[in-house]
Amino acid sequence: MSESTLRIGLVLPDVMGTYGDGGNALVLRQRARMRGLDAQIVEITLDDAVPDSLDVYTLGGAEDFAQRLATRHLTKHPGMQRAAAAGRPILAICAAIQVLGHWYQTAAGEKVDGVGLFDCTTSPMAERAIGELVTQPLLDGLTQPLSGFENHRGATSLGSEARPLGKVRHGTGNGSRDRVEGVVQGSVVGTYMHGPLLARNPELADYLLAQATGTALAPLDLPEVDRLRRERLAAAR
Ligand code: GLN
Repeated sequence: MSESTLRIGLVLPDVMGTYGDGGNALVLRQRARMRGLDAQIVEITLDDAVPDSLDVYTLGGAEDFAQRLATRHLTKHPGMQRAAAAGRPILAICAAIQVLGHWYQTAAGEKVDGVGLFDCTTSPMAERAIGELVTQPLLDGLTQPLSGFENHRGATSLGSEARPLGKVRHGTGNGSRDRVEGVVQGSVVGTYMHGPLLARNPELADYLLAQATGTALAPLDLPEVDRLRRERLAAAR
């Protein structure tokens, strides 16, 4: 890896890899390489300390037990928290929202302290939310609807420091009365969307890459990616 290599952190895929969200790191790497950038994925497992020097971090969803192991590890090795304080982009999917909040309550009712990067808390809903999720993004720079597949029991309430990522058009999202989805706080973006998210929402992939590289990226003309995006949006109607 050279000095100019874009380093993409895939954080704890051994415990936060249940839903195929590791695909988000692959999409970031591929879209960077298609712009002629050298990009590599750095896998951080439970055997590794979490480095603070990566350019962008991704975390996937997990079952309640696995997300507890992740919470403990990230608290013990706060490299990603230092990277967030330095403005590095972080993408957190589903259980990772819950892990990065102040605390979350598992489906069994246990309350677990989180990492505290998001001003949010999570408690179980009466019923599990499963199905297609579509939102209108509220993040500056995003214009296309976001779509993904949600599968969670936790409902997330946002505090005053956090903003939602989108307004729900179809599905459950955070499970709050105001029908919003996801969390944005500083450079950290969280969403309940699996998919993987970035394969279905290339605009968000490029948003994260622009943050990671500090440069505006030339658009990519990939008809098959756009076809997948439109097909997945239509599937929710
Ligand atoms: N275990 C969490 C919940 O059910 C997160 C699940 C997930 O990441 N899909 O709310």
